[in-house]
Amino acid sequence: MADAFPTFRRYFRAKARRLGKEQLAWWDLFAPTGKADRTYGWDEARAFILDNFATFSPELFGLAQRAFDRRWIDAEPREGKRGGAFCMGIEGVKESRILCNFDGSLDQVSTIAHELGHAFHNYCRYAADKTPLQSKTPMTLAETASIMCETIVMQAVLDQTTDPAEELAILETLLIGDTQVIVDIYSRYLFEQEVFERRSQAELSADDLSDIMARAQKATYGDGLDERYLHPYMWTWKPHYYSTDRSFYNFPYAFGLLFGIGLYAVYRQRGAAFVPDYMALLASTGEGTAADLAGRFGMDICRRQFWADSLAVIGQRIERYCAL
Ligand SMILES: [Zn+2]
Repeated sequence: MADAFPTFRRYFRAKARRLGKEQLAWWDLFAPTGKADRTYGWDEARAFILDNFATFSPELFGLAQRAFDRRWIDAEPREGKRGGAFCMGIEGVKESRILCNFDGSLDQVSTIAHELGHAFHNYCRYAADKTPLQSKTPMTLAETASIMCETIVMQAVLDQTTDPAEELAILETLLIGDTQVIVDIYSRYLFEQEVFERRSQAELSADDLSDIMARAQKATYGDGLDERYLHPYMWTWKPHYYSTDRSFYNFPYAFGLLFGIGLYAVYRQRGAAFVPDYMALLASTGEGTAADLAGRFGMDICRRQFWADSLAVIGQRIERYCAL
């Protein structure tokens, strides 16, 4: 991941130029560019997701169709409803339920695809009659199916567009996410590591935490961000830091994204023949290490090259973004 920072910094500089700035401030990281005015109605989002899931496998299509038709998805934002999105498997009935806050944006279409991926993961476990103990998925593999579904949908959006302004907007949406998962997650990892080390010696004040956070961000974003406008208070609102039984709840996102991109590359090579093996992998995520399960696909994730190849896919998005 650290090897990819120079590539990401090229993206930050290109984005700053687009926004007419020397350097990005923290908040600019999330600014849309290009023609981002395309919105999706609920039925349109449903149809788009189902059509593209159908190209992957009838099982994925069927699962998503049941989720839509049987109203497993609490989709609309409402007063008093919490933000974000998540999916929960209901063991007793072997089904899933999804919460999201659909606002018609492409980002939310991708989020629904993501959560349906979790539901598909549950479906594969249920269909294979795995017991709850066999199903306990480690953090490394928890995002495998979700990233795959997100990639299927976003790749389809990218493949279909012919308008450079729209392509730019889609790439921006993807790169905003990739930046969070690679560059920001790495800063959160550095932050957490230093907090644990220092907290074993002494208590830490709020100022200490902000100082650690700002240094961690400088270390990963480098000159890509204007150091006057970092986000030293990030630690105050990320709920993951306050989950006492889940330390370092940051790396699974990075692992999941890069592992998912690697799997997606295998899918592109093998096509439909990939799907049964993939479903068997999802069914057995509680029974083997990521390295063992990936080995079934001839993927050696203990080699540095595997991760470099996945990061290169993001690198290609950045090249294209800079060229547009
Ligand atoms: Zn997820």
